Amino acid sequence: MAIERTFSIIKPDATRRNLTGAINAKIEAAGLRIVAQKRIHMSKAQAESFYGVHSARPFFNDLVSFMISGPVVVQVLEGEGAIAKYRDVMGATNPANAAAGTIRKDFAESIEANSVHGSDAAETAAVEIAYFFAGTEIVG
Ligand code: UDP
Repeated sequence: MAIERTFSIIKPDATRRNLTGAINAKIEAAGLRIVAQKRIHMSKAQAESFYGVHSARPFFNDLVSFMISGPVVVQVLEGEGAIAKYRDVMGATNPANAAAGTIRKDFAESIEANSVHGSDAAETAAVEIAYFFAGTEIVG
C-alpha cells in the first residue's frame, strides 16, 4: 500500500480536556507519523470554509460555533494507507456507534463534540493540508 498523508484536527472538546497527548499516542500506536502539528484558534471564516460542504446541513451553525469555541490542534499524519487507517483509528462519527479502542469511543462527548477530524479521501486530504500548512511546515 502507498505512503499517504492525511489531515487531522484535534477538536476543542479534546484540547479543553487536555487529551492531545492521549490522542497522539493512539495515532502513533497505529503506525502513523505526525509530520506536522500546530495549535491554533480557528476563525469563524476558516471554520465556515473548512466545513463548507456541510453548509446546508441543520447542524452547520452549531458545528462552526463548536469548532471556534476553543483551540484546536491541526496535524498532518503520514503512513501506509494513512487516510483509511486514520478513519479506523478515529471510529464512527457518532461515538455511540464507534468501535472499542477508537479515539471517538474512548474520548468523544457527542456526535458533534467528537474529538477529531480526519480526511475522507485523497483529494480532500490534499486540499485540507494545503488549507492549514505550508509545504515547509511538513517534515516527513
Ligand atoms: N456533525 C454533527 N452532527 C451530525 C453529523 C456531523 O455535529 O449529525 C459534525 C461532527 O463534528 C462531524 C462533522 O460534523 O465530525 C463532520 O461530519 P461528517 O459527516 O463529515 O463526519 P466525519 O467525517 O467527521 O466522521
